[in-house]
Amino acid sequence: MHEMSVALAVVDQVAEAAGRSAGVTAVRSVRLQVGELAGVVPDALAFSFELACAGTLLEGAELITEAVPGRARCTPCAYEWAVGMPPRLTCPACGATHTELLAGRELRIVDVHWEDGPPHASTREPISEER
Ligand SMILES: [Zn+2]
Repeated sequence: MHEMSVALAVVDQVAEAAGRSAGVTAVRSVRLQVGELAGVVPDALAFSFELACAGTLLEGAELITEAVPGRARCTPCAYEWAVGMPPRLTCPACGATHTELLAGRELRIVDVHWEDGPPHASTREPISEER
């Protein structure tokens, strides 16, 4: 199951980053860019993510996915289009098949929110009264 390996990779990466930052007690949310052509089903990913988080710092974390539409550019005529689903990979302007995928294969963690312990008590220095 592709989604499960993606979820495990995301959890690994976030847990490692959280482990490097001192005092992280829990991860609240992870924002992930998911390309339209990455072959990931969002529902299946959300389910796998929940399983992958169990017993880690990410337990209970929310997965927020941002869909990235697929875009392609024609090499001969430089026309750009949204490839859609199922993806259209021949140029709609000139019919060329020599095209380049610009976006849509992303699987990228863009943002992580975590908690690093209780909010710090006020540590303001006492104000020295100047006379
Ligand atoms: Zn073209």
